[in-house]
Amino acid sequence: MADGQKYEAVIGLEIHAQLATESKLFCGDATSFGAEPNSHISPITLGHPGTLPKTNKKAVEYAIKMGIACESAIEKNNYFARKNYFYPDLPKGYQISQHTTPICVGGKVAIQVNGQSSFVQLNRIHLEEDAGKSIHDISPTDTCVDLNRAGTPLIEIVTEPCLHSAEEAFQYVTEVRKMVRWLGVCDGNMEEGSLRCDANISVRPTGSTTLGTKVEVKNLNSIRNIKKAIEFEIERLIGLVEAGETIIQQTRSFDANNDTTFAIRDKEDANDYRYFPDPDLAPFQLTDNYIHTIKETIPALPNQLKQEWKTSLGLSDYDVEQLTENKEEADFYGKWIASTKHYKAAVNWILGPIREYLNETGKTYPTLYESIPQLNELLELVETNQLSFSNATGKVFKGIIGTNKKAIQFAEEHQLVQNNSTDQISLWVEQVLAANPDKVQEYKKGKKGLIGLFVGEVKKISKGQADPKMTTQLLEQKLAQ
Ligand code: ADP
Ligand code: MG
Repeated sequence: MADGQKYEAVIGLEIHAQLATESKLFCGDATSFGAEPNSHISPITLGHPGTLPKTNKKAVEYAIKMGIACESAIEKNNYFARKNYFYPDLPKGYQISQHTTPICVGGKVAIQVNGQSSFVQLNRIHLEEDAGKSIHDISPTDTCVDLNRAGTPLIEIVTEPCLHSAEEAFQYVTEVRKMVRWLGVCDGNMEEGSLRCDANISVRPTGSTTLGTKVEVKNLNSIRNIKKAIEFEIERLIGLVEAGETIIQQTRSFDANNDTTFAIRDKEDANDYRYFPDPDLAPFQLTDNYIHTIKETIPALPNQLKQEWKTSLGLSDYDVEQLTENKEEADFYGKWIASTKHYKAAVNWILGPIREYLNETGKTYPTLYESIPQLNELLELVETNQLSFSNATGKVFKGIIGTNKKAIQFAEEHQLVQNNSTDQISLWVEQVLAANPDKVQEYKKGKKGLIGLFVGEVKKISKGQADPKMTTQLLEQKLAQ
């Protein structure tokens, strides 16, 4: 950014995460995605007169889980308010939301940008219900409305205006998505709208401590788009300031076709939503004991595991980063290392052949738990040079997984056990050297790279049974004579 020195961007993000509950926030209607339009809409969802909402405890629990994981303070005295506005996809004419008492206050999320760690400060996390969906691309003349989503529980995670680049925003949203998935409170699926982000952006002269006028880019539905929208807005706002124009507070939308944004409306200063406590929902109190019980159910978080595995197992930053991308994988690794000491070798197996196997077969980690003894046998056979890593992963692993065969049995049946006998390997080495007199001459004249070719030939005639380390050693000895 050309004017990066002169201006500082300030960004605050609002993330809406759909909670992974079976039913809606205030009634039993299903929350499942992709159902027949308007099939999950009881009179409560539609707000018919005489209906009574009832709070879904699971949603409250999930919001608290996220708050505890982000080290927020949990608000014990809560109530829901009505936020009144008219919109076709809002059947009741108001949205039920938390107003002055968000369930989680403050908190932080750790991010890494270019190897530097920092925290993104949260303002709050509050509970609210989602609206329905207006669909403009089915009919050329009409807008269709699907109210299935109306009433689905959301948490809105709001940061302080404390981010300063598109890259930081990108890392933050990536981290939040990972966290909600890790906790199991939201599926994090941005394509289906389970996680959506509004980005608030302003610019100010570097060094200034007052905030500039912000614009808000609504409903960003991929992490890539969040980054692109922010990059575009920062440039655009700086352009306006440089041209001496006044920035007006606006709501904008992102156009993914050309990575630009366009204005949807100028924001009137104070929207009057006429908030008032929902008279149909009693305020609810949380006890310390209840909050503590929820805390107990929170699994070790990625950052804790990273630290632990680095210090106690000696894994690298890269390895722990990879292993904690996905909770099922981290859980599997955690379970596996309870029965092996080959910590680093187990990582290599996971990042390579195991991931590949799961990808190819569409299977998941839980199906591999019962194969841990076989994996341990494979690790042992490779460590003791009885099997080459490539035969172990490429042939034996694939041959025995899902069966109750022993690795060694399969390897023997398929002549894959490595030959460590010096006599046998020497014979193969002699044979290869005798068959390639020209290459031997070239090697002796200094073309040392040919060693690879000889090793390859020994591998070929031994059908992969010659231990490559020993082969190389013996070849070097013979060729030096
Ligand atoms: P609104 O009521 O318009 O939604 P809030 O004050 O609740 O505004 O803030 C919404 C989000 O916008 C928060 O994430 C906040 O950090 C961010 N924000 C507020 N003011 C600014 C600003 N001047 N520049 C960038 N982000 C801002
Ligand atoms: Mg807002």
